Amino acid sequence: MPATNDQLSKYERIEAFVKGFKLSSTAYKQVMTLLHQEMNNGLKTQSHKMADIKMFPTFVRSLPDGSEKGEFLALDLGGTNFRVLLVTLQGHDIDIQSKTYLIPQRIMLGTGEQLFDHIADCIGKFVSEHNLLSHTLPLGFTFSFPCQQEGLAKARLSQWTKGFRCEGVVGEDICRLLQEALLRRTNCKVEIVAVVNDAVGTLMAAAHVDHNCEIGLILGTGCNVCYMEYLDNVGTWGNEDEKDLHPRQVIINTEWGAFGDNGCLDFTRTEYDRELDTFSINPGKQVMEKMISGMYMGEIVRLVLERLTREGLLFQSADKDCPLFERGRFYTKYVSEVESDTDEFFRHTKLVLEELQVVNYTTEDCKIVKYVCTLVSARAAFLAAAGLATLINRLNKKDMTIAVDGSLYRFHPRFHNLMCLKIKELVKPGLKFKLCLSHDGSGKGAALTAAVSLRLRDLLALPTDSNALNLLSKDIQS
Ligand code: ADP
Ligand code: MG
Repeated sequence: MPATNDQLSKYERIEAFVKGFKLSSTAYKQVMTLLHQEMNNGLKTQSHKMADIKMFPTFVRSLPDGSEKGEFLALDLGGTNFRVLLVTLQGHDIDIQSKTYLIPQRIMLGTGEQLFDHIADCIGKFVSEHNLLSHTLPLGFTFSFPCQQEGLAKARLSQWTKGFRCEGVVGEDICRLLQEALLRRTNCKVEIVAVVNDAVGTLMAAAHVDHNCEIGLILGTGCNVCYMEYLDNVGTWGNEDEKDLHPRQVIINTEWGAFGDNGCLDFTRTEYDRELDTFSINPGKQVMEKMISGMYMGEIVRLVLERLTREGLLFQSADKDCPLFERGRFYTKYVSEVESDTDEFFRHTKLVLEELQVVNYTTEDCKIVKYVCTLVSARAAFLAAAGLATLINRLNKKDMTIAVDGSLYRFHPRFHNLMCLKIKELVKPGLKFKLCLSHDGSGKGAALTAAVSLRLRDLLALPTDSNALNLLSKDIQS
């Protein structure tokens, strides 16, 4: 006869509510096989339209070579903070001055015009505070939402993610919208020369100093990856005549956060993932991202804790109105804090519980909270690792550096180690890899992309007989 709930020990009962986060090695290998197929679908002309993972070619055809110089503005829009930066490049010396601005919720959910006017106002203020009004400034725009790119400075928004939903922007060229807002709202002389997302910026910034770096990963508000791909593998690259002009490569912005939107990852999801999705502003979308990134991880933990409390397995004397039971109140930074406790005193966990106004908790409660954080973080890190291992195996280079940016990777005390452990288990024997933090990818990287693209443009303005072009192409590679 099966045991009733009462007969099961408390720990067995808890285990039943969290076991969905423990995935086997076979499951992660299955994830890799699926991701590999879905990436191919995104790259091929016939299947691209229906594919979840869009694998957008970015028009960024070469990595920086260290010779970039000049003064550039950079913008970083794509999640929690919006920043304006002044980047001065001089070989490997880089000076960055930046200011962070808030995007109020009402603007995140308002009209596109309000959003771009707000951005233009911030740029206007920044430019005049830095006495740059008389300068003509090239601008690299880090815009970290899925875009169909049509040129280095032309990108149409495919869909909003990460809590943004501004009306009238999907399908539009965001560079045009920004340039128009700049004209409307400011008198600064700014020319947008490149638009990239944060993953591309991260890769560009790291490749500037490390020539083995061909993958850029974001673990912040969202989760995304980009990498350098051979044009021959990119069915959707339409610019036939350009093929011989540059290196036959292009950075692919995978937008892999959408992996699983067709249901193929359902075997890795739990009831908590489904509940989080239902109450998100984009239900059914960004399935992979919702299991990994900083915007969602804390909430997944919170949903588990809420469930365990309701089942009488945690916080016996918690008040029903305590903030722990409000959506979004368990921040992902709490997961990092809880995970940083290494002894039985649970100093950080207790601080978190106090912030959430949980009263009369026991040491055993702390242990359970930590256990839940561990499981949710490990699944996130292992899924990201399975994704990276898929790419490392595809690229098949002996030494690969992966540049990583984002607060989740930066501040979570165990994310890096968990990822390395899993990647090692999943990559082909003989392939070496290194994960390294790329500081300020979105600022420095956007400026570098702008510099690379200006250099390209200057070169292309020269006489265009094929010999000259071949020389230029060598110059760009060197
Ligand atoms: P963005 O992706 O918008 O550029 P960040 O890289 O700073 O910004 O990432 C912001 C995300 O990181 C938020 O979702 C936040 O919950 C999460 N985060 C912030 N601090 C921490 C931390 N200490 N540990 C883990 N996650 C964090
Ligand atoms: Mg960022």
